[in-house]
Amino acid sequence: MATSATLAMAAKARELKNEGKDIIGLSLGEPDFNIPDFIKEAAIKAVNDNVHAYPPVDGYAELKKAIITKFKRDNNLTYEPTQIVVSTGAKQSLANIVMVMLNQGDEVILPAPYWVSYSDLVKLAEGVPVEIPTTIDTNFKITPQQLEAAITPKTKLVMYSSPCNPSGSVYSKAELRALADVLQKYPNIYVVSDEIYEHINFGEGHFSMAQFEDMYDRTIVVNGVSKAFAMTGWRIGYMGAPAWIARACNKMQGQITSGANAIAQMATIAALEASVSSIQYMVDAFKERRKLVLDLLSEIPGLKNNAPEGAFYVFPDVSSFFGKTIKGKKINTAEDFSLLLLEEALVATVSGESFGDPNCIRISYAASEGEIREALKRIKKLLT
Ligand code: PMP
Ligand code: GLU
Repeated sequence: MATSATLAMAAKARELKNEGKDIIGLSLGEPDFNIPDFIKEAAIKAVNDNVHAYPPVDGYAELKKAIITKFKRDNNLTYEPTQIVVSTGAKQSLANIVMVMLNQGDEVILPAPYWVSYSDLVKLAEGVPVEIPTTIDTNFKITPQQLEAAITPKTKLVMYSSPCNPSGSVYSKAELRALADVLQKYPNIYVVSDEIYEHINFGEGHFSMAQFEDMYDRTIVVNGVSKAFAMTGWRIGYMGAPAWIARACNKMQGQITSGANAIAQMATIAALEASVSSIQYMVDAFKERRKLVLDLLSEIPGLKNNAPEGAFYVFPDVSSFFGKTIKGKKINTAEDFSLLLLEEALVATVSGESFGDPNCIRISYAASEGEIREALKRIKKLLT
């Protein structure tokens, strides 16, 4: 397996910072907000109430109830408690799914760019990632024709995030319907719909593949509280899935980590029961920062910028710099470019290679306005 590129870059930036270098970290997708007070209070109450025993492997009944209510409220999806599994982050939900769904050699279609861990999780489960390349010109979305061409008798899963990490692209209901129409011809293929950025959406709103009646039994919805509630370190994710898949994930998790952290589960109940308007201030701030980062990037010649509709990343195409030498460093790949930014502008980003796109780099704007301004100023100075 490869090391997670996002975490590796964050570790490298931390290391340089500890050495006294003035690094601006735009590598990690981690909101810079504090966890809202009402969520912290629920956690403090859980500590004081002596919530300390091993929780059920698939999550407290009260939390599953809150998740079911959330799915109904936000997505008009109906689930039974047997269809819900709470995990240690959405990352564990994804790991559970590929471990239980894949036999050796099964193929998983990954529209590229995809979130960094998908391909290595698939490989860990002895599956084969099958990438569908896209470009910035189609806003990094696949077409139904591309999907159909990638399907083989070995295809088991299609896995994507919408809003997408790293591109920020959001599939509309009509676009998902066109993909679902292809999948209707292949009843043995399941969809993993990673919706962790659901609320960080600046466009027409969120739609889930599971909302189509003819896809509900074949779609596993993954979500979590890391992004919308700034609860990254509290490590709670969850899935809504066909009951047989949820049962298998429960079994898998019971042998690996057991139930997720008890206090964080209690806090998650408060997070999910709150009205979505309670986190709107963060979404509004991300929207402003997106505009800021795109405006500043547009002042730098040679970068080709996409128009992200959600999440908190931009994914500029930097391939026009390939073959050039800057500050004595030859730039042949996005990795070289990202390293150049780190070493010469002291700005940490992540190169697109590990997201399945060798022409781009990912810039996270889950950072303060001051950091974004300073980082882009340094990058502009270096490149112009
Ligand atoms: N899916 C996507 C698309 C992500 O960006 C992340 C990043 N954290 C995850 C899953 C995993 O999230 P969690 O913190 O819940 O493990
Ligand atoms: N999902 C975040 C990112 O893509 C966090 C890092 C990780 O979990 O890999 O930056």
